[in-house]
Amino acid sequence: MSQIRPLVAGNWKMNCLRTDGVALASGLAEKANAKGDLGCDILICPPSTLISDIVTVTDGSAVSVGGQDCHFAASGAHTGDVAASMLGDLGASHVILGHSERRADHAESSTLVRLKAMAAHKAGLQTVICVGETEQERDLGATLAVVNGQLAVSVPEGSTAQNTVIAYEPVWAIGTGRTASVTEVAEVHAAIRAELKIRFTDGDGFRILYGGSVKPSNARELMAVKDVDGALVGGASLKLDDFWQIIESCA
Ligand code: PEP
Repeated sequence: MSQIRPLVAGNWKMNCLRTDGVALASGLAEKANAKGDLGCDILICPPSTLISDIVTVTDGSAVSVGGQDCHFAASGAHTGDVAASMLGDLGASHVILGHSERRADHAESSTLVRLKAMAAHKAGLQTVICVGETEQERDLGATLAVVNGQLAVSVPEGSTAQNTVIAYEPVWAIGTGRTASVTEVAEVHAAIRAELKIRFTDGDGFRILYGGSVKPSNARELMAVKDVDGALVGGASLKLDDFWQIIESCA
């Protein structure tokens, strides 16, 4: 683990109605309050419909709340979309951008992700910008080229370690139960760190999260890899005990 304070972020995706979501977030806030300073930051990103309720039940705790996407425009005729300022207005502090499910389901390009990141930063949100290769790209030996390409275009000029977190999420490891090996994770995180240091004066301070089937049984090993500064957790963030064990592994 690097000297950077780790971040453990939960991506709830399109899961939880109010009762379950509020119970899960309340349970997490209670555990965080009981523990005191954990040595890491905690973020949960519920569906936008739940942000307001969850900000209320986590208020005053160490748990921050974020969105899972935002539009690049500040406001206007974009039916069904949510502006970054609207997330902030509900009390969200972060937003996940460029998740592979959005890149796949909504054909989001890295250029679009960059525009969204600029809008989010302008609205005062911290971005969690996701990059990662498909299985086919890895098999072709293109992992670093793909990740560096996504990084170069998705992360806007002017980003800082304060307003931007990078999440390396190999697409083939998301929701599949398959996890990248520590060697694979180390190689990609080192490459991301090198690129960040070239582009940004504070590039050595950006948090680089690993995501892709992180669970209690593998979290400690993954978090021990150089330049892994926390985790972006999908499925396991929906189970309080599992998510808490992951948090404790990162702290
Ligand atoms: C994710 O959705 O970002 C993710 C990493 O999912 P999972 O942990 O379920 O693989």
